[in-house]
Amino acid sequence: MFQSVLMMGGLGVAIGTALVIASKAFYVYEDPKVVAIDDALPGANCGGCGYPGCNANAEAIVNGLSGVNSCVAAGDDVAMAIAQIMGVSVSDTEPEFAGPGCYYGKDDADMEYDYLGITDCRAAALLFGGMKVCRIGCLGLGSCVKACMFGALSIGSDGLPKVDQEKCTGCGACERICPKNIIRLTSVTRRIMREYTTEECVTPCQRACPTGIDIKEYIRLIREGDYEASVQVIKERNPFPTVISRICPALCEFKCRRLLQDESVAINDLKRFVCDYEMNQNKRILPYKAPATDKQVAIIGGGVEGLSAAYFTARLGHSPTVFEATDALGGILCKAIARERLVKDVLDWDIEGIKEMGVTVKTHVKAGKDFTVDGLLKQGFHAVFTATGGWDSRLARGGVDQAETVFPGAYLLIDLLRSQSDKNITIPLGKNVVIAGGGIRVPDAVKLLKQSGSNKITIVSRKQHEDSSFDPAAIDILAKAGATIIYNAGVTRVVGEESNLTAIEYAALDTGEKQMIDADTLFIASGRFPELVFVPVRDDETDHPQNGQEKIGPLVWEGVELQKKPDTNMELGLLSSQDVISEYPSAVASINGGRKAAAAMHNLMYGIKFQESSNFITDQSILQDVTVLKNVDVLPRNIIKLNKEQKGSAGGGRVSTGFSTGFSTEQAQAEAARCLRCGLVCYEKSKIVG
Ligand code: SF4
Ligand code: SF4
Repeated sequence: MFQSVLMMGGLGVAIGTALVIASKAFYVYEDPKVVAIDDALPGANCGGCGYPGCNANAEAIVNGLSGVNSCVAAGDDVAMAIAQIMGVSVSDTEPEFAGPGCYYGKDDADMEYDYLGITDCRAAALLFGGMKVCRIGCLGLGSCVKACMFGALSIGSDGLPKVDQEKCTGCGACERICPKNIIRLTSVTRRIMREYTTEECVTPCQRACPTGIDIKEYIRLIREGDYEASVQVIKERNPFPTVISRICPALCEFKCRRLLQDESVAINDLKRFVCDYEMNQNKRILPYKAPATDKQVAIIGGGVEGLSAAYFTARLGHSPTVFEATDALGGILCKAIARERLVKDVLDWDIEGIKEMGVTVKTHVKAGKDFTVDGLLKQGFHAVFTATGGWDSRLARGGVDQAETVFPGAYLLIDLLRSQSDKNITIPLGKNVVIAGGGIRVPDAVKLLKQSGSNKITIVSRKQHEDSSFDPAAIDILAKAGATIIYNAGVTRVVGEESNLTAIEYAALDTGEKQMIDADTLFIASGRFPELVFVPVRDDETDHPQNGQEKIGPLVWEGVELQKKPDTNMELGLLSSQDVISEYPSAVASINGGRKAAAAMHNLMYGIKFQESSNFITDQSILQDVTVLKNVDVLPRNIIKLNKEQKGSAGGGRVSTGFSTGFSTEQAQAEAARCLRCGLVCYEKSKIVG
């Protein structure tokens, strides 16, 4: 008995000692902040924050890897509580909602086969992609509904998902589970940054529109008489809707599916109808904006592209300021389009609308004279975009008698050549000169540079050696001047310190390999300055402090090209033949350039990499389509009347007509009814009566 007690006691002491040692050896410290934040989080473990559960997100918040407001299932009160635990302030987050993108349900879409398997979209998708003829159509089995932990989704009577925005937390569970990419999270920022892909239901007209307006939707809203919502849809992608509704070449109408039956829908005239409605009411419909950020953006140039970039920048929540050299905004719209075609009132109305979005405008201020790019960065602007004009930026400004310089050390080659005969034109030449472009006037320019004391001249030519514009005599001149020619290369980046250019980066056009060379002067063999975005070089690369803080070192800046995809494959370097950002065939294309510029600046300011995708829609994309329309009645197109008096303005209120009057309400309704509300292969068929 005594022995047993002794044994049990000894065993107890041994186990106790082992446990004490184990608890010391395997002790895991639990940060009280993690515990407190974990307690504050709702415990839904939905994964909407991007972490596998609430505890993982709590750890990420404490380690600075996740935001205090990263929980999509919680409200502001939880974000505030977490911010208090962390001792930081909470900034506004932009709400995101699920948005379904399929419009033809089980009764309206054509089916390939009947599906009798398990009720799961992923299972159905494994069978030839699903039962719909449309390869990207919603399968309607509600996997997204089951995935939503917040009861925000349901399947409607048409077999398509419906979102309750009150309940949707934007956790993204539906987006992740949908095998057809039908449901996507949406927000103002996402809509602005978005490039269409082949996995989305984008109508033929929308694909053809350079700005990608959701045409089907604005026409549907006209049909429903909701004109304000219709204007909102148009302004999602177009800051000059009233102008464009008068001057657009309407590429969308050339792709309208109705052409398979009769005539295209009068898409642009319908746009004019709702935009005139807004203007005639004199009641501005302002599009949605993302929550305000602390980012300030300077845009040099108040033409179509510059103002569009400012508009989209403002909608992304930033504070844009436009610097325009002349006294008039609108660039080519103001200077080159006949007033009968584009009445000044209309242009002014759209420009006022852009300003009302929170765009500050300064006119009569010229880059290089009244301000400089580096000066703007030092003032606290986080990015500077140069949008100084179309194919010859100087024409819009009525010509120039001085050499122009938009950013430090950069000049147009034409100004260098002009300086030979015009003594008013002076260019402060450096020792280390780079010429971007390899045209036939380059040897003359090189001779001039040599005479003026430049001792290192490099020509970066986009042409291959064998296709070069330089004949043997020119090569001889260049060789005697000691100029180096880099063939098949494009300038991709400029770098400077304070008010000086210090280097340029060029890339080999075949391999993409990049090199830096020292440069204090850059000549651009073009009639215009390139569109670049300038930002301070990031702190981890230099000792330059963040903007707004006390300066502890020289300002180092860089100017980079805008992202050109998906309109063209990224052809590297300035002066590329497909430079869509520079070579706009129409005002509507410039608007899209402005949107892309705003998106590029947003990405640069936040260090976000452009999301490459192999399935962006381009002219080369092969998409499902229809070639014959069935059960569609012939309906003649409604025609707007010519304004016989051809006055500049109708004379009453703000109604401005020009060459033509707009649609009456009856005409607009009749025309809107002609739209087939196309999907990728679906469309609205005539109701067969009887
Ligand atoms: S949206 Fe996607 S997951 Fe939801 S019902 Fe349609 S196919 Fe299924
Ligand atoms: S019918 Fe309507 S949706 Fe279809 S292409 Fe024409 S305008 Fe666009």
